[in-house]
Amino acid sequence: MKRPDIWLALLAFFLTTCRRKKDEPWFNLFTVEDDLKLGAQVAAEIESKPQEYPILDSARYATAYAHLYRMRNALLATGKLQYADRFPWRLRIIHNDTIQNAFCAPGGYIYIYTGIIKYLRNEAQLMGVLGHEMAHADRRHVSQLLTQAYGVQTLLNLLTGGNPGLIGQIAANLLLLSFSRDHERDADAHSVIYLCPTEYPADGAAYFFEYITQEGGPRIPAFLSTHPDPGERVNNIRNKARELGCRGNQLYEGRYAELVAALP
Ligand SMILES: [Zn+2]
Repeated sequence: MKRPDIWLALLAFFLTTCRRKKDEPWFNLFTVEDDLKLGAQVAAEIESKPQEYPILDSARYATAYAHLYRMRNALLATGKLQYADRFPWRLRIIHNDTIQNAFCAPGGYIYIYTGIIKYLRNEAQLMGVLGHEMAHADRRHVSQLLTQAYGVQTLLNLLTGGNPGLIGQIAANLLLLSFSRDHERDADAHSVIYLCPTEYPADGAAYFFEYITQEGGPRIPAFLSTHPDPGERVNNIRNKARELGCRGNQLYEGRYAELVAALP
């Protein structure tokens, strides 16, 4: 009985084509609303586990949060993020100096480890990293990858309240997500597009890669081991910034030192 399979496949194709937005290059069975719901669930899960994810209190560490939100706002104000107004873009700092990483849940819930903030040297580098992570959410790579990994039906069931154990698994895996090279290139290119209208150098992400790969420099953070070759990424990022004629040149090292000093 081959025929019903074909009709099912066609039906699935039409359903997904209808759900897909024209300007998103990747196949995604999730709607933007689904991204928001899943992101909120993942965020609630992360924040219910202070042992694993010790989140810095936003009132007690108000100075650190103010610096990060100012940088985030500079990105959102560019008008270059498709979901700038639709996603919450909420930031949380996770207190762990040994993890040099940041990640973003679907729907724009951003998590930054103290390890990566302390590891970087200026705002331009962190803006590059922020732009890259925000692109994974705004370009909807995260939900696409989760759909691939878990299957759309499992995730849709999750949104309607089934399988609470799975949400913990997804939260834990967000940090380990291995995006495709295409997704990484797209996130790099969009970090340039987002930074270009700001006063920062649009190749902030390239500064970051150069900094971590310099001779005698700090060791490469774990999350980069799954990413494409840093040298190639530096070239792509620089070329993109040149192509767009970006002119920002502020690094803000002093202000960055204030952010680092405000952390525990
Ligand atoms: Zn990435």
